[in-house]
Amino acid sequence: MKIKAINGFKDILPEEAVRWRFMEEKARDIFGRFGAREIRLPILEKTELFARSIGEATDIVEKEMYTFADKGITMRPEGTASLLRAFIEHGLHVQQPVQRLYTIGPMFRHERPQKGRLRQFHQMDVEVIGAPEPAVDAELMAMGRMLLDELGISASLEINSLGCPDCRPGFRSRLIGFLENRRHRLCQDCRRRIDTNPLRVLDCKKPDCRAQVQEAPSILDALCDPCRDHFAAVCRGLEALGVDHGVNRFMVRGLDYYTRTTFEFITGDLGAQAAIGAGGRYDGLIEQLGGPALPGIGFAMGMERLALLMEQQETPLPRPATDLFVAALGEKAAAYAFPLVHELRRLGLSAAMDHSGRSLKAQMKQAGRTRANYTLIIGDNELEQQEAILRDMATRKQESVALQTDAAEQAHLLALRVRQNVIVHP
Ligand SMILES: [Zn+2]
Ligand SMILES: [Zn+2]
Repeated sequence: MKIKAINGFKDILPEEAVRWRFMEEKARDIFGRFGAREIRLPILEKTELFARSIGEATDIVEKEMYTFADKGITMRPEGTASLLRAFIEHGLHVQQPVQRLYTIGPMFRHERPQKGRLRQFHQMDVEVIGAPEPAVDAELMAMGRMLLDELGISASLEINSLGCPDCRPGFRSRLIGFLENRRHRLCQDCRRRIDTNPLRVLDCKKPDCRAQVQEAPSILDALCDPCRDHFAAVCRGLEALGVDHGVNRFMVRGLDYYTRTTFEFITGDLGAQAAIGAGGRYDGLIEQLGGPALPGIGFAMGMERLALLMEQQETPLPRPATDLFVAALGEKAAAYAFPLVHELRRLGLSAAMDHSGRSLKAQMKQAGRTRANYTLIIGDNELEQQEAILRDMATRKQESVALQTDAAEQAHLLALRVRQNVIVHP
């Protein structure tokens, strides 16, 4: 019996990993351009952290978390709570009034696995803490847009405001009144949500619920003046940066902690409409977690979905290549090549050789498979005459190379020769 990976947990095989690495490097590059610094966080946290931040009545906390109940710890279902926990624990705000932080890694939710949704999934998370200004909201969304553009992914940006503790409760009770009258036409989940989390009924994906909420009061009409001004300024900011966006009053996000701005990057290219990135402002959350009264805003991008879209849209990827393959024919030649390959690697080149004494033809095939730019062919006879053949794999031109007795010296000369023509991989 073969042992297989757990349902909802997936291997990222080498060819796919090239895509993932490209995505991560792009993200680090762009996050850096916006002044964000990396923070690396543990995967396990106290369960209480998520109950207090995400909210007891959310799907995530109610049914999707991997919790070790006897130990009171949980595998993180998202990144923001952990990041804020670390921010508070280490008093990062003392160093710098506005902190821009990002983290990249796996998250865990016990959901039904489907295309682009796994139980171990990966997110890139960016948070800006300490800045209440709407310009920051616009800038963060523009950053998300820049990342998608540079990954070759097209998606639309939808924004909404969820108000604040001053204006949301009023909207919430009006909404409950509206929903109560239609309770019998809503799905089971939504009937329950009326009492626990009525805003979530607005973004239920079931067609019947969708039809019911079309007439629901709009939160945008219920905003207090400061919230209304903030939202208008966010829209102006996006326009100033040339970021296309639409307003979606039904978007509420699944997490309780959001205030004011929420946003999603949506694509229709994965079948049904799907969010590939989403976030929002959480101005009361840091204080709620026992930290200073600082505002914050952040977003997360789902890396599985980004990878699927990059594959679909054939985003060009850097293809790893070998600088030099050494084809050694015969025992003496192999003994010569062995330290030579090592010295080449020490000089920073990617070098490879065959260890199983195969034929020239087989070794040339292997050189092709490793995408070698050059192959150095050494036979026992050539070794005696202190000579080898250097073959340019692209042009198929061959030249004779004098062999040195010392591997380090030989590696140095080869590196100089090969690097002149080394293709610079984007
Ligand atoms: Zn408000
Ligand atoms: Zn529903």
